[in-house]
Amino acid sequence: MGGSSAGRVLPRYVRVNTLKTSLDDVITYFKRQGYANKGKARSIEELVDFAQKSGKFFLQDLHIPNLLVFPPSTDFHNDSLYTSGHLILQDKASCLPALLLDPPVGACVIDACAAPGNKTSQLAAIVQNKGKVFAFDLDTKRLATMSTLLLRAGVTCQELANQDFLKVNPCDPKYQKVSHILVDPSCSGSGMPNQMRVLTDEAGSEKEERLQALSAFQRRALSHALSFPSVQYVVYSTCSIHQQENEDVVKDILQQHPDFGLVNVLPSWPLRGLDTFAGSECCLRASLTETLTNGFFVALFKRRSPEERRLY
Ligand code: SAM
Repeated sequence: MGGSSAGRVLPRYVRVNTLKTSLDDVITYFKRQGYANKGKARSIEELVDFAQKSGKFFLQDLHIPNLLVFPPSTDFHNDSLYTSGHLILQDKASCLPALLLDPPVGACVIDACAAPGNKTSQLAAIVQNKGKVFAFDLDTKRLATMSTLLLRAGVTCQELANQDFLKVNPCDPKYQKVSHILVDPSCSGSGMPNQMRVLTDEAGSEKEERLQALSAFQRRALSHALSFPSVQYVVYSTCSIHQQENEDVVKDILQQHPDFGLVNVLPSWPLRGLDTFAGSECCLRASLTETLTNGFFVALFKRRSPEERRLY
């Protein structure tokens, strides 16, 4: 696991699934297993130092509640808490979209491109299995895997559909209460350690064509999400490092949907959107060198109130 750049290595991030257990119970479990609890990390630098080590100890993450950080060599694939769905092995950056969307308990939520479903299970944990999480994906196999993972994670508030999100009718009464939508569409995956080389090797024009096709889909998916009549918040994320899939998409969508603005999320997060449009600093970027995560991008859209629209 992991990857390295400038001598940095990804630690093993473990999300505690609060649908099945609690942070305190998991900490007690690990202590009984002989792991030392080193407390809550105070800085990314502390995590960087920690990730150089090996041994039986862990930290609590400084940004994401319910996220534990272990040395890179730690393997939980056979751990009973992992196999029973109490723990989810999820990179820190990929925990950001659901955390920032933060639907209230009992909310009606859509996960537009959901499989294999780590973010869906995180959303279900945030709404405490109350309300509804409608989850769509085009890929039958990935959806089947997702169904198994959600069962294991104790998710019961989901409604899965093997359906093109772009063809979901926003005016269907079924979705009239949808207030929060997570859009994590197909992307180049260029932020994932094993994908970086693939893209660098691709010929320039091929890469450009691929990025254009992906960003066209990403714009359509995001725009479609913003067209749901009751939606208040939409979070957009990719595991891409390319501006074409990130800031460029957000900039165009803001122009097309003046009734939405960006929320300045997680001010303590050090890496912000590239300075390509006014307000791009509201977006988050993530990278191995700066945030000790996979490469990632997140933007949170909020519907403007009538008052805000008047001022805008
Ligand atoms: N959010 C997922 C998670 O955290 O586990 C990962 C999603 S992955 C980046 C993108 C997904 O979008 C793929 O599973 C792909 O099959 C799905 N997808 C692509 N086009 C779609 C469409 N038009 N409607 C719904 N899902 C789509």
